[in-house]
Amino acid sequence: MDLSEILTHLGEDRERGYDAVVPPIVQSGNFTYPTVAAMRAVVQQEFDRPLYTRGYNPTVAMLRKKIAALEHAEDALVFSSGSAAIAAAVIAFTKAGDHIVCVQKPYSWTKKLLAELLLRFGVEHTFVDGTDAENYRRAIRPNTSFFILESPNSLTFELQDIAAVCAIAKEHGIVTLCDNSFNSPLFQTPIDLGCDMVAHSATKYLNGHSDVVAGVLAGSHERIRRVMSKEFMTLGACPSPHDAWLLVRGLRTLPLRMERSADNAEKVARFLESHPNVKRVHWPGLESHPQHALARKQMKRVAGLMSIELDAPDAAAVERFCDSLKCFLIAVSWGGYESLQWPVCALQGPSGYYTDLPFTMVRLYIGLEEPQSLITDLEHGLARM
Ligand SMILES: *Cc1c(COP(=O)(O)O)cnc(C)c1O
Repeated sequence: MDLSEILTHLGEDRERGYDAVVPPIVQSGNFTYPTVAAMRAVVQQEFDRPLYTRGYNPTVAMLRKKIAALEHAEDALVFSSGSAAIAAAVIAFTKAGDHIVCVQKPYSWTKKLLAELLLRFGVEHTFVDGTDAENYRRAIRPNTSFFILESPNSLTFELQDIAAVCAIAKEHGIVTLCDNSFNSPLFQTPIDLGCDMVAHSATKYLNGHSDVVAGVLAGSHERIRRVMSKEFMTLGACPSPHDAWLLVRGLRTLPLRMERSADNAEKVARFLESHPNVKRVHWPGLESHPQHALARKQMKRVAGLMSIELDAPDAAAVERFCDSLKCFLIAVSWGGYESLQWPVCALQGPSGYYTDLPFTMVRLYIGLEEPQSLITDLEHGLARM
């Protein structure tokens, strides 16, 4: 199926009498039947037919089909957040006494899922430097049941060789999950590289307009059905039909947004790399990135998130740079139309997180603006340091 067919038609049943080009938002929590017998038939198939919106909703079902097709998966689920999707997938395939191997410096709440929540239920973990796939092998114990990948990982943009890590997992009967938020399915499809399941924070590129928090999980029919019938239904982090509709709408322009964000990121990264006040640019699209060759091998393009280390003497200089930027809003998250900045020094507080990162680090998300406006803005900011 080609991309246009997935984004423009797939799952959009236009034969139910709506006669609408744009599919409806079925904003209903429950569904009704003409007879008891008809209800009885639906109850038997509550994950495939409309009974109650937590389990099945037509607007959400449309989105599930598109996500599965985009990720080259058999099936997909939609959650009320990316964190919910990751947690449900991990919990579905681990039990008390198991051990999980995860890439170091994953998304912060993935880290807390392992380091705080699952530890309480007797699930152990090891964080590994994923730049060498063999580190995953070395961390395997007899009770290892799950590998978590996030390539590239958050903030430091270290890649894992997805095919190599997943091959090691297969040898040991270990289930693999890759957080693919950074790439969107257009720039990387981990299932094609042997990964069992793929998760996204759909809040980011998939929605693309900074107005929805949602998550998705894609994989085989069997695995998705297993997550759905247990963790998804029990933990109950289902999306609202309206958010699912906004996501379908956001997806329409995914190819255009991804190309623009990646084009802009390339221009900005090259400018920053050549600037004397920038010590380092962490972006796998640059030849200077230590894993640039792997990025070219497993990713179609490199998306618009990067971090820089400023050549700043103190946090005050970093703040002068950040405060003077006009095009880059100071905010968390990313993946929308708007460029953003996320200075690590703003988060190195009492939480104790991020203290392993330099205070000179600023994460930049490169949005869809005119690239020259972004570069001019950064040029002015760097001059004020
Ligand atoms: C934002 C993010 C998440 C969490 O997604 P939410 O939708 O905020 O719950 C997970 N992984 C990555 C890489 C993210 O950027």
